[in-house]
Amino acid sequence: PFDVLIVGGGPAGAAAAVYAARKGIRTGLVAERFGGQVMDTMGIENLISVPETEGPKLVAALENHVGHYDVDVMKLQRAEKLSVANDLVTIQLASGASLSSKTVIIATGARWRQMNVPGEAEYRNKGVAYCPHCDGPLFKGKRVAVIGGGNSGVEAAIDLAGIVSHVTLIEFDGQLRADAVLQRKLRSLSNVRVIVSAQTTEVKGDGQRVTGLVYKDRGTNDLRTIDLEGIFVQIGLLPNSDWLKGALELTNRGEIVVDAKGATSLPGVFAAGDVTTTPYKQIVIAMGEGSKAALSAFDHLIRMAVP
Ligand code: FAD
Repeated sequence: PFDVLIVGGGPAGAAAAVYAARKGIRTGLVAERFGGQVMDTMGIENLISVPETEGPKLVAALENHVGHYDVDVMKLQRAEKLSVANDLVTIQLASGASLSSKTVIIATGARWRQMNVPGEAEYRNKGVAYCPHCDGPLFKGKRVAVIGGGNSGVEAAIDLAGIVSHVTLIEFDGQLRADAVLQRKLRSLSNVRVIVSAQTTEVKGDGQRVTGLVYKDRGTNDLRTIDLEGIFVQIGLLPNSDWLKGALELTNRGEIVVDAKGATSLPGVFAAGDVTTTPYKQIVIAMGEGSKAALSAFDHLIRMAVP
């Protein structure tokens, strides 16, 4: 068996692999797609000490760093089940094979829920964005919309209002769902307009960049167009944890509950990055949490009974 088996090859998984392997213990990493969300990212400007990079470039650097160590990397492998018996954790793969390890670190990340309207996929990274902390500054002085009136949508609108020239917040429901204190703050801002009972139906562009969006007024069924340069979709971040239901403690949103050390509800099983309850889903945070989970797994190993 492995000493540490990491499931996921994004920034959290890669950091965990480097930290584990540097302890000289038997380390494996399985990932469906090495690089994770970073593979879908264009400009990255907030990885501290790297003023500017691009997703695929950072993924190559992560892979190169992991490759400096003795890590058994198994790509294009999907984990489907986790079980524990006799101090060993078993991960069953979609291929039918299974792997066992004394400790496991889950770093399977998350994905942004999409609107699934025409133009959204075409203009992703060309005006359609999902992360205000990442891409907000790219829209300095421009007009943007935020889709979604929950806490993350309203927080994004407040954040962006300080950077861009104008924000239109679009909510499907008849009212916003964010906390009252956030809604009060939002309504105090002069460059924000809130539209409720509105369903976004199309992202418009000129072939290069976003130029506007179309929404349906759900009261009258009229279609209306807004001219703008950016659209931030804030309708939910879905953790990749479906395969863990019933195996360990998840929140009602599917995040793996972890403590300050990255420990889950199952002894010997740790988790890190976007799939966990750790707030603020960012690369630098995922890297830190992955490193921490590896140190916690090592700490667990040295306390295990000698066989
Ligand atoms: P992920 O990157 O999601 O990696 C998950 C890994 O797990 C992948 O290898 C995946 O294939 C694998 N996996 C999932 N399920 C399974 C399974 N069942 N079996 C095996 N493997 C599995 N953050 C920033 O800090 N700066 C930015 O500029 C920035 N821009 C972004 C732009 C976009 C478009 C997106 C989508 C995100 C952006 N982020 C940015 C957020 C950042 O990418 C994430 O916070 C970070 O990648 C999380 O790392 P992670 O390792 O937890 O998960």
